[in-house]
Amino acid sequence: VIEIGQPEHSVVTTCAYCGVGCAFKAEMRGEEVVRMVPWKDGKANRGHSCVKGRFAWGYTTHKERILKPMIRERIEDPWQEVSWDEALNFAAAKFKGIQQKYGRDAVGGITSSRCTNEETYLVQKLIRAGFGNNNVDTCARVCHSPTGYGLSQTFGTSAGTQDFDSVEDTDVVLIIGANPASAHPVFASRLKKRLRQGARLIVIDPRRTEMVESPHVKALHLPLMPGTNVAVLTALAHVIVTEGLVDEAFVRERCDWSEFQDWAAFVADSKHSPEATAIMTGVDPKVLREAARIYATGGNGAIYYGLGVTEHSQGSTTVIAIANLAMATGNIGRPGVGVNPLRGQNNVQGSCDMGSFPHELPGYRHIAGDAVREQFEAMWNVKLNNEPGLRIPNMFDAAIEGSFMGLYVQGEDILQSDPNTKHVVAALSAMECVIVHDLFLNETANYAHVFLPGSTFLEKDGTFTNAERRIQRVRKVMTPLNGYADWEVTIMLGKAMGFEMNYTHPSEIMDEIAALTPTFAGVSYARLDELGSVQWPCNEKAPEGTPVMHIGGFVRGKGKFILTEYIATDERTGPRYPLLLTTGRILSQYNVGAQTRRTENVVWHAEDRLEIHPHDAEQRGVRDGDWVRLASRAGETTLRAEITDRVAPGVVYTTFHHPDTQANVITTDFSDWATNCPEYKVTAVQISPSNGP
Ligand code: SF4
Repeated sequence: VIEIGQPEHSVVTTCAYCGVGCAFKAEMRGEEVVRMVPWKDGKANRGHSCVKGRFAWGYTTHKERILKPMIRERIEDPWQEVSWDEALNFAAAKFKGIQQKYGRDAVGGITSSRCTNEETYLVQKLIRAGFGNNNVDTCARVCHSPTGYGLSQTFGTSAGTQDFDSVEDTDVVLIIGANPASAHPVFASRLKKRLRQGARLIVIDPRRTEMVESPHVKALHLPLMPGTNVAVLTALAHVIVTEGLVDEAFVRERCDWSEFQDWAAFVADSKHSPEATAIMTGVDPKVLREAARIYATGGNGAIYYGLGVTEHSQGSTTVIAIANLAMATGNIGRPGVGVNPLRGQNNVQGSCDMGSFPHELPGYRHIAGDAVREQFEAMWNVKLNNEPGLRIPNMFDAAIEGSFMGLYVQGEDILQSDPNTKHVVAALSAMECVIVHDLFLNETANYAHVFLPGSTFLEKDGTFTNAERRIQRVRKVMTPLNGYADWEVTIMLGKAMGFEMNYTHPSEIMDEIAALTPTFAGVSYARLDELGSVQWPCNEKAPEGTPVMHIGGFVRGKGKFILTEYIATDERTGPRYPLLLTTGRILSQYNVGAQTRRTENVVWHAEDRLEIHPHDAEQRGVRDGDWVRLASRAGETTLRAEITDRVAPGVVYTTFHHPDTQANVITTDFSDWATNCPEYKVTAVQISPSNGP
């Protein structure tokens, strides 16, 4: 039982967990949160919330939060608490020393998809204008970077095409590589409501997810082998083309017809048929043909996808294959249809919008474009480097080679989140100065020289952008316990390095973003307060924002069909590693659990378990609840087994919310060919009985 008092006032703000972006009323007594109540006027959640968001305030006052800056010369030394000035001057001297010794490009930084748009914008500004290079990347690198690539190539913009309301006009819901019931629960409720009203559901996922098992919903489940997304999507396209189910009028009017013809000839090849690919994908050809017919002919078809699409060596190819399907069937550019990435973190969309990639300025404009760069140079009063900088994996490689020595990480535990932990440890150990700016002493902090205390969403003003491009206000409800909001810390770090950024409030940062970014031109705090929220593009042409994109024409002009040749991942099974591991989430926890394990949610998840099919378990002498050793070519860990037929024979599955699981000790170095997004969702493993950790 949680005892609560009576609130004295309330402040409307936005949940800091997933990409749904639920609005809450923080009910306060003085500076103390009494409870968080889902806000009925929140346009993304309409008065609903999940069990994560309701208790999200708990981690703000958790006793393990670090509130004082700390420094140390070597990672073997104990941390020393110091003043903010001393910590910032120490960090600045280290970074300047590194640049003098190794060159301008020897330092860089990583922005956070948990921080506000304004904070992300400032970090990339500090790196580009203050450090003088483009070595800025985002934790979105490890989740939705293929979405950025795939959707911009095909449609011309790196974002989901619909608003959440659009689901009310949907007749066929196709979910691939996502489990919204666990990861995006408030949106999943809206999906389920629509399904109960009669919309059809197709789920492409190696595991029988909660969506497949939803009561009163008849789902068509395509339980593919992990790593075969492209083969399955191309087989769906094969059926649509060879059975004459293409929306030819749409394609002729809206897409490049000659590219379509090349694509149609490619997918029509018999080697792409459901029958020819069935052994490889594990999907029954009859079920696949039925799914293709339903999606192409069942009315408005909307595709929702998640990290089961992007976190593969063919992540970008899979996003392109999804876009091809939507264009071929005319399922784009009106309510009820579209291609919709379900973003994992609260501000993944925003961190990408704000120029967190090494080759792109805010608004997805390439750094090599002279006209755009000159606009930023005039506003920031500096000369910018026109060469793209390093991506996160390139930073790690360069550190091991000795040319990248200083890293500023805001709000991201790269050691726990990035693949191949051994490689990350080697990279961090090789650096001369790692600055961790975070709430807790996370795993990365074990290799840091400077710890700058971070602030939570309750302690700052700003904005988050959710999965439907909806920009919403984050409002400060209490004074930062550490003294400063994250945007203020980045400004102070810049000043210590000799780079001044002068803002007195995040609204001024948003005004600068709006002045420099055409899709944000109409966004201001006054406008957000007036409308409640707004979906970009918001500008002169669309002063109220844009709920549905690509109406009447694609952002890039003609929609572009691109061939999607299936190439099997190099991560192969064999006698030594005969099973394929894939991963996912549970409802009560968020990512690596750093926040949710420090709230009331901790009671719902004590450990991550390994789901294994009864047949595979019996072969290995494993019983339900036994400890097992899970080993891959990269490393090994230990966890308890859960025997279930939710996974097919040959496939095992685990969540990754608990630090003891160390799921990324297991994952390999393979990554998406276009964006380097790690291949988290398929790892060849072996299982053997164990006595426990
Ligand atoms: Fe809403 Fe996601 Fe927060 Fe749950 S975690 S309350 S679904 S934003």
